[in-house]
This record gives sequence, C-alpha cells and structure tokens, in this order.
Amino acid sequence: MKTSTPAAPPRHTPASITGPILAWYDRHARDLPWRAPDATPWGVLVSEIMLQQTPVVRVLPIWDVWMARWPTPAALAAEPSGEAVRAWGRLGYPRRALRLHAAAQAIVERHNGKVPDDHAALLDLPGIGAYTAAAVASFAYQQRHAVLDTNVRRVLARLINGVEYPPKTQTRAETTTAEFLLPSDPPTAARWSVAVMELGALVCTARSPRCVDCPVLDKCEWQLAGRPPYDGPPRKGQTYTGTDRQCRGRLLAVLRNTEGPVEKPALDIVWSDAPQRERALDGLIADGLVDPLDDGRYALPT
Ligand code: SF4
Repeated sequence: MKTSTPAAPPRHTPASITGPILAWYDRHARDLPWRAPDATPWGVLVSEIMLQQTPVVRVLPIWDVWMARWPTPAALAAEPSGEAVRAWGRLGYPRRALRLHAAAQAIVERHNGKVPDDHAALLDLPGIGAYTAAAVASFAYQQRHAVLDTNVRRVLARLINGVEYPPKTQTRAETTTAEFLLPSDPPTAARWSVAVMELGALVCTARSPRCVDCPVLDKCEWQLAGRPPYDGPPRKGQTYTGTDRQCRGRLLAVLRNTEGPVEKPALDIVWSDAPQRERALDGLIADGLVDPLDDGRYALPT
C-alpha cells in the first residue's frame, strides 16, 4: 500500500503516536479468542462480521458456538443458510448471518475452502466490504492495510483532527490520515491497526473517554484545543424500543426458536401493531431471512 501525506499533516511524527499506543496495547489488550495464536483466518472473518455494530461481550458466546459447530467455511457452507440465521441468536442485524453463509460458500467454490489472503480476493467475496477485507488481511495474515472502523475513526478524529467525532460517512481525508500513521513494516502495521481499535474500544470511548489513562494524552489535538464540543449534524440515536428493528427481531425469534415452519398467528401474536408487523415481515422476506411457504406458513431459509 502506498502511503500518502495528509493535506494537514499531524504535528507529531507517526512513530511518536503509534509507539505509545503499541506499548499500551501490549499491556492492556483483551485476551479474545479470535486474537489467540491458534485463531484461524475463518475465525477472524467470523469475528469481524459479528463485531460490526455489536459489542464484544455479546459476540463472545455466539462466536464460540459458531466455531465449535462450523470450524471451517466448508462446514458452514454445507448447511442451509437458515441454520446460520438460527445460530445468530440475538446478535442483531441478522443479514450478517446470511452474508457469512454466502461468503463461506464462495470461499469453498473459489478458494478451495481457504479464506483468501489477498485483499482484492477478500473484497470480492459476497458481503465483504472494504473494512472487513482490510481487517481480515491485517489480523489473520499480518498485512499492511489502513483499517478504519468506528472506534479507529473516533480516535483519529480526536487525536489528529481535534474534533470530538468523525464525519457521518468516511472521507478520503480519514483514509489518508490512517495511511500516514501506518507503520511500514507489515506485522507492526497489523498490530497497530488492532491497537488503535482497542484504544477506541477501551479508553477513547464515544461518550466518556478516559483521557487520564490515554497513552497519547499529551499529543491529542482535541485535548490541546480544550475538548471543543461536537458541532456537526445530529448523530444517530440508539433507539430500539418500538422500532421496525425490534419488530423484526421478535418475528425472527419465533422462527429461530421453533423447529420447522410456523403458522401466521404464531407471528401475529408477538407484535400488536399490524401494519408495522406486516411491513417488518415483508422486509424479512425481501432480505431473504424468512421464506413464505406455499401453504401459508413461514420458515427460515433453506
Ligand atoms: S486523550 Fe482522550 S480524546 Fe484524546 S485520544 Fe486519548 S482518550 Fe481519546
């Protein structure tokens, strides 16, 4: 990967920022199974999809179950996609289960069952976006890629740009900054990528950063500017109760917890607002998460 210089380069050298964060990571990294020396690239890929929009503590038990049941892409690909949806449990955003199943099938068909180590081949898998391809190439294969997730974007926004939150959608300038900081040696770059992500998860958190524990407190532009409050467009709230998302979750839970198809009244009973319920059910069908059968019943996909 080529390293470009940001339009307004940080006032500190990359090493003076990456060094303390790498040293902090050595002392404070969480002991997570997908970071263990014996973790497989498949385990890393599954963890990366599960961790999108879901905290580690909720992912851990489901990841364990998945790895025990489907230790390889071939094992998952051999089962119906509905089993992936069932085993997704309450992780939320269940289309991710379908994406993982589709990726497993593509890995079997195109790569002989081995998660590819090439960034472009990863990106070419169904449901794998730029972030996941970079993360798997970095964390499973120790390559050098800019890995920008929500946590990293927030850390860099504060540390380098002096603002509390990054823009709503990722900009080219953020990628340039991430590439500028990326150590040149691939294994160190991969370690840096996970280290800055961990700093965002544990210290530079969204609502109450623990700046006194931060290894780069003296270099943080947001701190040096006096912690100016966010003045961008309104940020998305976390409302869940009463939403279509909650309704979809209830409907899908009925199917997950039942062996075989269910009658429509079994779905109707879990959500009283009929128009919202029908809308949510239509959405689940359109997303391929629910199969409407010819006899009027509903099932997980096969
Ligand atoms: S000093 Fe605070 S805001 Fe700045 S990077 Fe560290 S934790 Fe984040």
